[in-house]
Amino acid sequence: MRTISHFVNGQTLEGQSGRFGDVFNPNTGEVQARVALASAAELDAAVQLAAAAQVGWAATNPQRRARVMFEFKRLIERDMNALAEILSSEHGKVIADSKGDIQRGLEVIEFACGIPHVLKGDYTEGAGPGIDVYSMRQPLGVCAGITPFNFPAMIPMWMFGISIAVGNSFILKPSEKDPTVPVKLAELMMEAGLPAGVLNVVHGDKTAVDAILTHPLIRAVSFVGSSDIASYVYQTGTAHGKRVQAMGGAKNHGIVLPDADLDQVVKDLSGAAFGSAGERCMALPVVVPVGRKTGDELRERMVAEIETLKVGISTDAAAHYGPVVSAAHRAKIADYIRIGVEEGAELVVDGREFSLQGFENGFFIGPSLFDGVKKGMKTYQEEIFGPVLQIVRAESFEEALSLPSEHQYGNGVAIFTRNGRAAREFASRVNVGMVGINVPIPVPVAYHTFGGWKRSAFGDTNQHGVEGVKFYTKVKTITARWPEGEHEGDAFVIPTMK
Ligand code: NAD
Repeated sequence: MRTISHFVNGQTLEGQSGRFGDVFNPNTGEVQARVALASAAELDAAVQLAAAAQVGWAATNPQRRARVMFEFKRLIERDMNALAEILSSEHGKVIADSKGDIQRGLEVIEFACGIPHVLKGDYTEGAGPGIDVYSMRQPLGVCAGITPFNFPAMIPMWMFGISIAVGNSFILKPSEKDPTVPVKLAELMMEAGLPAGVLNVVHGDKTAVDAILTHPLIRAVSFVGSSDIASYVYQTGTAHGKRVQAMGGAKNHGIVLPDADLDQVVKDLSGAAFGSAGERCMALPVVVPVGRKTGDELRERMVAEIETLKVGISTDAAAHYGPVVSAAHRAKIADYIRIGVEEGAELVVDGREFSLQGFENGFFIGPSLFDGVKKGMKTYQEEIFGPVLQIVRAESFEEALSLPSEHQYGNGVAIFTRNGRAAREFASRVNVGMVGINVPIPVPVAYHTFGGWKRSAFGDTNQHGVEGVKFYTKVKTITARWPEGEHEGDAFVIPTMK
């Protein structure tokens, strides 16, 4: 069986711990490879090499660092099809969606190509008599990223793209469920001219994560995954003196006002709720129609739309979505559907019995639709992360606004309306980090910044854009004077600008 090894100091490095994780093909349900799981000692060895490599990389001028990013972009575009195929075979998302995963990461690399401009500091000439003040952003040293299974290309690139461009070295600990593409990305970075040791991929589970969170040489940790782990990573990492940003789970709402274009809404909702089998942190698993008529109409059209959906293997170009990532995750989704029924929600479409002919052992689950979902229900409060859409009816704009605002998660939200004033007020008042107006999945472009609120993110700095640059750098401010002649003033009094 194929073994997926670590990639450290520019080389494939076999695991020494004797521990491995299974990597499935979700289409067939078979184990297709095993991935090495690192020990703390293996993690430490990688960090030492990364620390040594960082010194020279930080001294490399920013334009040269950017050139590596330009070349990396070209190589990813060259290998796009092959990368998408690997990604789909381990994750289960359809090929077009895998290309989207890679493309959204690549857009952060494009941002990183402009790093010399972004890193320019501020300068004030003549802040006092003969005094100039300037600031510079310097890299932190070794940084680390811990990533989830659902975007094995995009999220690693969010992190290492910026971190490396600003002059850090990086340890990537990708999800052990779909670890091959992250290794390919590191290999392509080497081919693009990155010096050995600047980007390292160390596979693992909690043992490797804990070793990252407590390692004295790792200065900053970026995490994306579920909220309980995100909270743990934030607490543990900050307790060990690290800068930590930890993005968590989500339960994004789509608010549908009575004046919305329902044809468009149904198409948008279908893609946003069921695309990638609902395994997106910016999916829209909750729809909130305002008013009875809107709710009834939406439900009817949604049922018809769901009938047109095709669930298939990830290489089926006609499939809307493929299998979920694991048998355990499929069972968890089915369990949430059972609980939803027990809680008293109306199961309008039940996807649990779906089975794909010829792929009966694959991790497939059909689309499900609930109506009559209420605020207090467990299935409303928690993230299901599967192809399940829940209708939560609201009677007024205020009630619709309060639902996402009061929810424990605050990643994304969307409002569908033709009323600009209502949309503007909603965007201003809603207690959520990313808002779409007639945009179902409002993942911000790379030069803006990604991050939710409440239990969707721990820490203050977002992913990518200028916020990402701030996360991976520290600012130094220099106050300079070149005196002429005699010493002036009282050296014992705090200097002020009169
Ligand atoms: P996960 O939390 O299970 O795993 C994320 C990472 O944490 C993996 O690298 C994993 O190896 C590691 N990990 C798992 N258990 C651990 C433990 N006990 N201690 C330490 N580390 C551990 O998440 P997942 O299932 O891979 O991804 C899905 C989740 O990620 C969903 O909740 C989704 O909403 C969230 N997500 C959030 C965002 C965002 O930006 N907010 C983006 C994508 C995914």
